[in-house]
Amino acid sequence: MRLGRARSVGLVGLRATLVDVEVSVGGGLPRTQIVGLPDAALSEAKARCRAAVGTSGFEWPQHLVIVNLSPASLPKSGTHFDASIVAAVLAANGSVPQTRLDDAVVMGEVGLDGALRPARGVLPAVLEAARAGVGHAIVPLPQVREARLVEGIRVHGVASVSELAALLRGEDVPERLPDVTPIEAARREPDLADVAGQPEARWALEIAAAGAHHLYFKGPPGVGKTLLAERLPGILPDLTPVDALEVAAIRSLCGLHVGGVLPRRPPYAAPHHSASVASLVGGGSSIAQPGAISLAHRGVLFLDEVPEFSPTALEALRTPLESGRIELARSRASTQYPARFQLVLAANPCPCGNYGLKGLACTCTPQAIRRYGERVSGPILDRIDIQQTLKQMSQSYLRRVGRTASEPSAAVAARVAEARARQAARLSPLGFATNAEVPGPVLRQELPLPLGIGLVDEAVTRGQLSARGVDKVMRIAWTLADLAGVGVPRRQDVQTALAMRRGDELAEVRCG
Ligand SMILES: [Zn+2]
Repeated sequence: MRLGRARSVGLVGLRATLVDVEVSVGGGLPRTQIVGLPDAALSEAKARCRAAVGTSGFEWPQHLVIVNLSPASLPKSGTHFDASIVAAVLAANGSVPQTRLDDAVVMGEVGLDGALRPARGVLPAVLEAARAGVGHAIVPLPQVREARLVEGIRVHGVASVSELAALLRGEDVPERLPDVTPIEAARREPDLADVAGQPEARWALEIAAAGAHHLYFKGPPGVGKTLLAERLPGILPDLTPVDALEVAAIRSLCGLHVGGVLPRRPPYAAPHHSASVASLVGGGSSIAQPGAISLAHRGVLFLDEVPEFSPTALEALRTPLESGRIELARSRASTQYPARFQLVLAANPCPCGNYGLKGLACTCTPQAIRRYGERVSGPILDRIDIQQTLKQMSQSYLRRVGRTASEPSAAVAARVAEARARQAARLSPLGFATNAEVPGPVLRQELPLPLGIGLVDEAVTRGQLSARGVDKVMRIAWTLADLAGVGVPRRQDVQTALAMRRGDELAEVRCG
């Protein structure tokens, strides 16, 4: 009986665990068996590894080969185990020495031709290996930059099983770095300078960015709802290094490209309204994969034509909106993914989209228009501090504003950053970072009352403002004060916040 051993990392969501891959060769009829809770896809690794070893000039043992993945209680899935299985088999064969494998994690999918291909989840896996004190990580060459984002571990990139064997034998494997892709180099965020007109909606976007408020744009097609939503990430502050690493780890887990520079800009996800619940919040058969809400973690989730989303999909957003994470229980494991996103919704005024448009006839019945507005449920609307209606702009107005340049994102982002700094200074002792997070009781009891709070009381007495509306007005008033650089909201901030809110309450009453 001959033994070989390599190490890899098991991933259940972002939770990573070091996995020992033990291979025993000998006795029994020639066949290969993988034990230790592999899923169906991982069981197929046998065929891939066997072929790759053969085409790379080594021999797959003509005996019983048992591959044991330990700890056995941890459910395992993913093609990234291939490389570690190959390494352990080569060690059992005596083709490579065992010594170098003891202080390394080996990851990557193997092709039948012996090539080492990128696999999902390399970043979170290498993070765990480094945390556990493993000295070396061997990854597919195209993922070297991704793996090198992790500090405190030596990363080696190999292109094939032959190179992997050479590296383990201590032979010279030239250090190479894959080229930076042109897409990565040219990536630029869309700029607010490209959007003409809609001054009120731009202002609403700036307030939303400054206070991290969820936002709801309403208006006919073509008025710029999507243009503005796409530009929200561009005026948000940079991610902290810790958040950026988490965002990159989620991308890695989804099999998306992660470059060699930690992306510090907030992500943006805009799933289509036909998206399934699983692709929106995460899902899958054995171990759940992240969905759009996790890809939008620490960034912006934009749902265009929100009434067209299935009610189940919208309902599934409720918990993550409250807790900032999603728990997905599947047959093999229960997985948790972070999902703290800023929500931007957009809706047409009616199903055909023509309601209120000049020169176009709306064909919807009044009931259809009302039902359309009601498809976004109360619990979701409760979380949205700002609702803004965009109107169609006349051609003459657009010609006029088209000649003067709009303010660029950089200028708005600077004001947003200052407003965020003021909030952080005021709210961090209370355990919050942004105005949007502050619950009603804290607003009313622990923070100083805005000047002109009497205006809010009057609006409530007159029945113009509901109880939940009061909290929203207070939050917006604080964000306006933070943007203006004053310590406590002024009377005019409360007035503006009330005016912004009043239109929404009227709309909600009309709809309800
Ligand atoms: Zn219509």
